[in-house]
Amino acid sequence: MSIRLEALPRGKRIQHMLEAFRDVREWSTPVGQPCRVCPSCGKAFTAARKPRLTICLYPSLTPVPVAFLYRLCGPCAHTYRKGGRHKQGVIDAIERFLNDDEGENHA
Ligand SMILES: [Zn+2]
Repeated sequence: MSIRLEALPRGKRIQHMLEAFRDVREWSTPVGQPCRVCPSCGKAFTAARKPRLTICLYPSLTPVPVAFLYRLCGPCAHTYRKGGRHKQGVIDAIERFLNDDEGENHA
């Protein structure tokens, strides 16, 4: 099953976006290691290519209240900040990254 992601607007939480979780009051802490590559362009982070922006995405058809933080490199962060179709293009690329290799590079 493909994952379909949506951006979590700044200042919003999952319970604001998904009706099923609106009464949830307790939230867990982030788990896992930060991705070593930019999930939008697939390039590895290095001393020169540093993560420039962290975005929060959630699966729109999730059966559980979960959201993911993704770090973007400078060029992808710039594209994301332009908004509109540019922002959606970055989200689509992250979806492909997750769905194509099922997160093998996501350690
Ligand atoms: Zn990138």
